[in-house]
Amino acid sequence: MKKLFKKRKYSADEYAQGILQGDRIILSRAITLIESKLHSDNELAETVLQKILPFTGNTLRIGITGIPGAGKSTFIEAFGKYLTSIGKQVAVLTIDPTSRKTKGSILGDKTRMEELANDVNAYVRPSASGDTLGGVHSKTRETMLLCEAAGFDVIIIETVGVGQSEVSVKGIVDFFLLIMLAGAGDELQGIKRGIMEMADAILINKADGDNITACKRAKQEYANALHMFAPQENRWNPQVLLCSAIQKMGIAETWQLIRQFEIHAKENGSFNRNRQTQNRQWMHDVISYYLQHNFYNNGSIKDVLPNQEQRVETGKTPAVVAAKKLLKMAEVAGDKKTCEIY
Ligand code: GDP
Repeated sequence: MKKLFKKRKYSADEYAQGILQGDRIILSRAITLIESKLHSDNELAETVLQKILPFTGNTLRIGITGIPGAGKSTFIEAFGKYLTSIGKQVAVLTIDPTSRKTKGSILGDKTRMEELANDVNAYVRPSASGDTLGGVHSKTRETMLLCEAAGFDVIIIETVGVGQSEVSVKGIVDFFLLIMLAGAGDELQGIKRGIMEMADAILINKADGDNITACKRAKQEYANALHMFAPQENRWNPQVLLCSAIQKMGIAETWQLIRQFEIHAKENGSFNRNRQTQNRQWMHDVISYYLQHNFYNNGSIKDVLPNQEQRVETGKTPAVVAAKKLLKMAEVAGDKKTCEIY
């Protein structure tokens, strides 16, 4: 008869110690704990976070985005292997906002970056987007902190550049890298001006074979476009680089550029300022998230919401009146402590 072994539960101290010792198994379990929707896990997860927090932050956080097929995973594999070859410990967190419908992550198989995933100095963790705070998995930031405490010094967050997600990834990283292709046209690449404006660097990938001339032209065009944007607050001039992820060309240059950025931003204080702003924003995002969550999971609201929606749809009640009525109801329910606070 098959025996079912239940995984032993760790205490917050055991989690924290294991993470700080760089134990991958405990790290993975801690990330699962952080991602858990069980209320009983939330408290433990928060205690673990509190314990490891002093050991986080001394890292470089890099966001990488681009449309599917731009070569993100090929690039990250080459870049990650380069970083480990120069003595860095690299964690890669992949977010796939397009997987919400299937509840799974299409980016999510480790085979996408098999070589890197098997590197002892790297850690690749896919996460389906699931619950999101403006597109980023609501737990990506905490996961990043766990990886930092586990000793990883470069954290790469990969997202598909097709929507909201890159905006929120920008809000949790130090350096934002956009991977583009030559000749595909901005429209086709689904890259909006706003995303280009957020980039600290643009990589034109697949600069190899017959494509080199087109890539050089694209490099000039993007460089011209970047000049037109208002200067960034950190006074960094975003750069455009050519890259062939497959031929591992432009990989070391990308790292040099990121290091230049780090030195520049640390010297003028914008590195820390940016992180402080991000932390503050994160708190507000979490507040908004839970306010909404509590509202829509409130039993009385759930009961009357469909009716109010219908009244608004058919013009019987103005939207603002219905909204205020529902908010008032939630407030009353909150007073009676039926509104759950996490
Ligand atoms: P992602 O969807 O952005 O992660 O893109 P992938 O890394 O999966 O790459 C998409 C396709 O482009 C794959 O077939 C890769 O082999 C190919 N590819 C990626 N980088 C390069 C490159 O530098 N040059 C060429 N010629 N092909 C590349």
